[in-house]
Amino acid sequence: MVKTLVKASLILSLTFGLGQPIYAAEPIAKKQFGAMSKGSNQRARPFGGYAMGCLAGGAQLAETGPTWQAMRLSRNRNWGHPELVDFVQDLSKNAKKIGWNGIYVGDMSQPRGGPMLSGHRSHQVGLDADIWMLPPKSLKLSRNARENLSSISMRRAGGAFVNSSWTSEHHQVLRAAASDPRVARIFVFPGAKVQMCKDEKGDRAWLNKIRPWFGHHYHFHVRLACPKRARGCINQAPPPKGDGCADAQKWVDDILNPPAPKPRDPNAPKPKPRRELTVADLPTQCARVLRSR
Ligand SMILES: [Zn+2]
Repeated sequence: MVKTLVKASLILSLTFGLGQPIYAAEPIAKKQFGAMSKGSNQRARPFGGYAMGCLAGGAQLAETGPTWQAMRLSRNRNWGHPELVDFVQDLSKNAKKIGWNGIYVGDMSQPRGGPMLSGHRSHQVGLDADIWMLPPKSLKLSRNARENLSSISMRRAGGAFVNSSWTSEHHQVLRAAASDPRVARIFVFPGAKVQMCKDEKGDRAWLNKIRPWFGHHYHFHVRLACPKRARGCINQAPPPKGDGCADAQKWVDDILNPPAPKPRDPNAPKPKPRRELTVADLPTQCARVLRSR
């Protein structure tokens, strides 16, 4: 009897590695969510914020439609809240009216949202979509072609201005996206915002939602607001009032004439390295989203 007890406690201490911090056992969120191949069998709901959340009941955007194609199918990121799937289809129809064949759709979310194994900090709740700047030549691309075709940059070398690939259709497609009441904001490189600020002669209200940001010259990034009555979905604070054109111009001016870097305060605390998100960091509903069939 005594012998058995000793044996059992020996096995226990070996198994649980004495002194191991508990959190070492917490599952890494991006591995769990990255492994999900289809949406959860739940009512559609985003949980949490754009960069810290997940998606229940995700819907898949059809890989090809009359006015769109989803790109890089191997990533399986053509998923989102049904409102995002509707929005993308509506935008593709508007693009057609404007004179494009439709749109190429880049990353949306994983089937159950959540953090991703590569790229993107946001796109976690099924309300973000990247739309390629490249106007589609064909909407009959094969799977393979969709892995290999690249979008095109709209940015002139140096980074401050649009290049000769930028057209009035780009302006109109972005305006159509920003004018949609479901849209909260759109990220695009500052040179494009400044160009649109110059070129817009009509109503400027939509420019409020166009937000200058790093990158975003091969695609623009559309972010929808939380759908109505989506409890547990966390909106971002709205952009400051006004068209935001002066801010974008300031950004461009700083690219052209970079301000002197501020000297580092030797007493300032070092920035903490970013820790991997675990499932426990996400809203509690997300563990259930993972477990759902
Ligand atoms: Zn994006």
